[in-house]
Parts: sequence; C-alpha cells; structure tokens
Amino acid sequence: MNIKMNIDEILLFLDLMEKEKKTPLLDELKMMLYYLENYDEVKKFYKKVKENGYRLPNKFLAFSLVHFIENFEECIALKKEIYQNNTKRKYSDVFIQQILLSGTKEQAKETIEEAKGYGVLLKNTWADKYDSIREIIKRQEEWKRIIKEQLIENDNFPKIYNDFSRLKHKYFDNIPLEYIKGELSNRNQSQISVYTRSVFIKEYARRISNGVCQLCDKGAPFRDKHGNPFLEVHHIQYLSEGGSDSMENVVALCPNCHRRIHHLQLEADFKKVLEKAKINLNKNGE
Ligand SMILES: [Zn+2]
Ligand SMILES: [Zn+2]
Repeated sequence: MNIKMNIDEILLFLDLMEKEKKTPLLDELKMMLYYLENYDEVKKFYKKVKENGYRLPNKFLAFSLVHFIENFEECIALKKEIYQNNTKRKYSDVFIQQILLSGTKEQAKETIEEAKGYGVLLKNTWADKYDSIREIIKRQEEWKRIIKEQLIENDNFPKIYNDFSRLKHKYFDNIPLEYIKGELSNRNQSQISVYTRSVFIKEYARRISNGVCQLCDKGAPFRDKHGNPFLEVHHIQYLSEGGSDSMENVVALCPNCHRRIHHLQLEADFKKVLEKAKINLNKNGE
C-alpha cells in the first residue's frame, strides 16, 4: 500500500483524534514523526500535540522525537520534560543529541559530565562530535530505516492510515460543500487553520468534480475504500512555482490525466482545466 502522510494530514489527524477523545498511541506517533519532512514540521507537530493536552510517553520522547530536535535550547527543554518525574532511567540518546547540538567542544564535554549524573556513561570521543548536523541526519536516517523495517514487519502503518482516512471521511461527511466553499472564500474571517485549509481545498476539488475527471470528462476509474470516486487533486499553477492553494487553482483529475498533464504539459490541457476551475467556482453543491 502506498502511504504518504503530509504535515496537514498529520495535524488534522491529531485534531480529529482529539475530537474523539483519543490519545495517540506510540505507533501512531512514530508514524506521524516518520512522515515529517523537516524541523519546522517537527515543531508544528510537537506544538499541536501539546495544544491538544497530550503528555507524550517518555518512550516516544527519548527514543524517537529526540533525534529530530535540531536546536540546542529545545533539546534542553525536551530533556527537562523527559526527566521531570523520572530521574532513574538512562536515556543516552538525549545526551548524545545535546552533544551533537553543542556549539563548542567544551560544552560537549560538560554534557558528558552531566550525563554521568544521570547514570549515562558516554565515551569521551563523543566530545569530538559537537555541532554535527551530519551526524544528526545520519541518526535520523537510521531511526527511519528501523521504523520502516518495523512497518514492513507488522503492517501497522496501513492500519493507522486507514483509521485516519476513516476519521477524515467521517469529518467531511457532515460538512456540506457550501460550508467548505464559504470557509475557503472568507479568507480573513475564516475559522479554519492554515493546515486545514489545504485539506479543505482538496476536499473542495473532489466534491465539485462530482466524480468526473475535469480533463477527459470521464468518470473516475474506480471507487476508494469509502465508496467515493477516486480522483486526484491537481494544482493548475504548481505550488512549487508560486501557484496558490485556492479554489481558482485546483481541479480533480483521473490518475491518467493527472500523469498526462504533468508529463506532456500541453497548452490546450492547461487552458481546459483553467476554464473548468472557473466554472467550478459558480457551481453549487448537490
Ligand atoms: Zn481524465
Ligand atoms: Zn498535479
């Protein structure tokens, strides 16, 4: 199964769980962390988790999240959080991360001393690895490799992703198209947050297409697990080229046409979908 969660989906997942009064499980947290792409996203994820009032298990903080902290002060803060009720456990990765983020060798040596106080014995050679983003990335990749192996072993990620899809569908099932359009067009007064916005845009494009590809005008080739026509959302002006994530700039395409439009980049296709996007704006919900 081809799964890839992006940051918007991850933040939405956390919010939908919160709505259902569920606390994310360790594997769910690991999966979300696995799909985060940079430190900025890690911070958004961590902030959302805290906003939702979850106290993350040390198992997750000290063995997973710590590898993705790329700022010295924030690493210290994480260490405090980990050790607030628990001084006996030996979390060596936390001190290693602190060393890798240290600005000087002196600071790194101090961390080795500090670690001893917690019963964590680190080799003095660690001090040579201060200020090493390369080593941090290496360790992040190693963590991801292990997670990926586990994923293949126990097939857990598809299950988690299914749970998320189910929550997402349940959420959108109760939201009429008009509401989505309203939220998306009242840019300033909108209640929806930045991340939900992009999820809303995707939902808008799929809803407005009514199950018909907006390039070849044929019905979706199959239905997804929830019984909805399978179409992909395409940004007419690519986001990477400054296109906006807005109603004027999206259409829903069948997988074939989606490939075609990216691959051939034909002017005629471009014009057609642009026209469709305009017409969409004036369409009303079923
Ligand atoms: Zn098509
Ligand atoms: Zn596309």
